[in-house]
Amino acid sequence: MSCTRLPDKLISFEVNMSDGVSSVNENAVENVVIVGSGPAGLTAAVYTARANLRPLMIEGEEAGGQLMITTDVENYPGFDHGVTGPDLISVMRKQAERFGTRFITRNVDRIDTTVRPFKIYVGKEVHLAKSVIVTTGASAKWLGLPSEKKYMSRGVSACATCDGAFFKNVPVAVIGGGDTAMEEANFLTRFASKVYVIHRRDHFRASKIMADRTLKNPKIEVVWDTGVEEILGNDKQVTGARLKNLKTGATSELALEGFFVAIGHKPNTDLFKGVLTLDENGYIKTKPGSTYTNVEGLFAAGDVQDHVYRQAVTAAGTGCMAAIDCERWLESQGS
Ligand code: NDP
Repeated sequence: MSCTRLPDKLISFEVNMSDGVSSVNENAVENVVIVGSGPAGLTAAVYTARANLRPLMIEGEEAGGQLMITTDVENYPGFDHGVTGPDLISVMRKQAERFGTRFITRNVDRIDTTVRPFKIYVGKEVHLAKSVIVTTGASAKWLGLPSEKKYMSRGVSACATCDGAFFKNVPVAVIGGGDTAMEEANFLTRFASKVYVIHRRDHFRASKIMADRTLKNPKIEVVWDTGVEEILGNDKQVTGARLKNLKTGATSELALEGFFVAIGHKPNTDLFKGVLTLDENGYIKTKPGSTYTNVEGLFAAGDVQDHVYRQAVTAAGTGCMAAIDCERWLESQGS
């Protein structure tokens, strides 16, 4: 690890007009810029702010991440009666702000990690940073049906661990044939009266062990070769789904109260392609047991580097790790 002291102030900074950049804050080199504003980013903000690093968070135009589309969160410790996703984000944000975090509600266009300090392009501005914590999260993939949006959090979910307990003794469906779908279907059998796994082909993509567990579970019925045409519902909630057998073309209706989409997640790492080492699914690779990436001074936390746990509390946990890793790294650089 290099021990070059990073400059607090830039003496000069060439503005490259061909980048379309018109405003550079020449005097400010941020200690740490946090990109992304879900529980990982906001926890990193609380910790780095309390460490007097005055973090700048670029929270994105759709700030808050996946919790913003989650109604009830019952498994985040500290809320004995549960909390809504947006309320949880709101209190975390206020907490980060109280200790001096500054926010920019825009998207990052590009990060140049080939220079020190790093350059972070946001519209026509460029921000300079000694270190960066990436917490851009992952997005669930959706089928793209209008009814999916309409019934979001009213029966439609992409997280059985988060929402499964709301579906006690009612029939639910899981869409997908990968390991996530298998895991979610088996988990949901703890609550639901019946779990249908609706898969578009005649065999699963999932690992054999997970597929076998699903096929042997007496509460699960697999509906093969089938697509979903529409999610059905009333004014309040999901009541079923209209299915289409993709081999015969026959349509049918299935009564359901829960509709779990488990067709994969997409990590939000487009900004980092060719910059950071990503795994085969596009998640940022971190050094085991830490939040270090392959670029020194750039840390990653939350769902952008975790496709296994994907919980608000684990994201917050790795956000804390990133803040501590970052603080220690800055100290090692003499900053
Ligand atoms: P996958 O990409 O593995 O599977 C997605 C599934 O959804 C596939 O069966 C696919 O169908 C189906 N699908 C995709 N798009 C659509 C669509 N538009 N309409 C209908 N069906 C669709 O994603 P997972 O999230 O399941 O897994 C991601 C990675 O994480 C994998 O490597 C997996 O092994 C791993 N994982 C491991 C776990 C564990 O070991 N405990 C748990 C969960 C995930 P098709 O098969 O026809 O392409």
